Parts: sequence; C-alpha cells; structure tokens
Amino acid sequence: VQNLPPVVLDTKFLLPTESGDFDAYGFLVDGANTPIIALANGAVETSDWPLVRLQSRCDTSEVFGSKMCDCAEQLRTAMQRVQAAECGLIIHLDQEGRGNGLRAKLQIYQLMQTQGLTSGQACAVLHYPVDARVYDQAAAILYALNVNRVRLLTNNPSKVEGLRSFGIEVQQENIRIMPNVHNHAYLLDKQVTHKHDLGL
Ligand SMILES: [Zn+2]
Repeated sequence: VQNLPPVVLDTKFLLPTESGDFDAYGFLVDGANTPIIALANGAVETSDWPLVRLQSRCDTSEVFGSKMCDCAEQLRTAMQRVQAAECGLIIHLDQEGRGNGLRAKLQIYQLMQTQGLTSGQACAVLHYPVDARVYDQAAAILYALNVNRVRLLTNNPSKVEGLRSFGIEVQQENIRIMPNVHNHAYLLDKQVTHKHDLGL
C-alpha cells in the first residue's frame, strides 16, 4: 500500500493490566519521536476481523482522569471489550485528541471556558483544523501485524473512512460511554456537528 510510513516491531512483552493481560508491542514508525504501543489479545496475526480500537492519546484524560472528554473511559471500555473478544488489538496513537498537539488542546480548553465556546468554535478562533488526525501509522501497524480487515471500535465515521482510505476493510462497532455534567455539551457537539454516533 502506498503512502504508508515504514514500521518496525521493536519490542514485545506481556503487560498485565487492571483489564487483563495483553501482549504489548512497541513499534518504531519512520519519522515518529516515540514508539507506538499496541496491546493485543489473542492471535492477531492469524485472526479474521479482530476487534480493533485506534486510541488517540489524551494526556488530560488518560493521565489525570479529566471529565472534560470521554477518552480514558473509551480506552478502558475498549480494553475490556478486546479482552472479552476472541481476538483484538488497541493501537495507542501519539496524536493528541483532535490531532493538533497538546498545546493546541490546552489552548482550546482555555478558550472554551473563558469564551463559552464549543471545542469546534475554539478551533476556528485559533485557526486549528477541527480534526487533523491521520491514520497512516495505524494502517501501517495493522499491515505489519498481517491485519487487513477489522471490526473497529469507534463512534467516529471519519476514523472509519480514514482507515478505509489505506485499503483496510472496516466494520464499525459503536463504543458507548455515559456522559457526565462536564463533558455532556462536548459530546453533544461531537454528535451534532461531527456526526459521531453517540446515541445521545
Ligand atoms: Zn480526551
């Protein structure tokens, strides 16, 4: 497949977690500063239609447990569903939230609170694209693991299309999270403006 960055499987080890034991892979991606971690359950390389989650890094949520978004809960739910599945994989991508980087995300949060904006409106004010995420690294890692068709755990239609654009066959499976008082407006905006299927 063209336009995919070269990836190398650099490390592999067993990672016990609160959600169960995973085979952890460290992939080196051409041009990336940090390895990409993938967590697998079952024989991914010989499986058909494994359950796959592409998780975009979210420091505020995954590290600190922020309630302003739903990222950490989606990750935890995905880990549990991959454990419950015969075979599955989580790829943790080194791109913050909407793909503009950590500083952008912090600026967007600040502007949302000081100006009462949605995150999409804050992106516009700051001249950031609303969703700059790309899935070429994810596709390259899937191909490296001999996976070319997936059941994708996501509510985001652009993630489905992004992966398909690299020749991966995709069936979408929703991943539903209960909203809280801090992220409800944000999730509603994702559903209405960005067509995420959140069931709100
Ligand atoms: Zn988040």
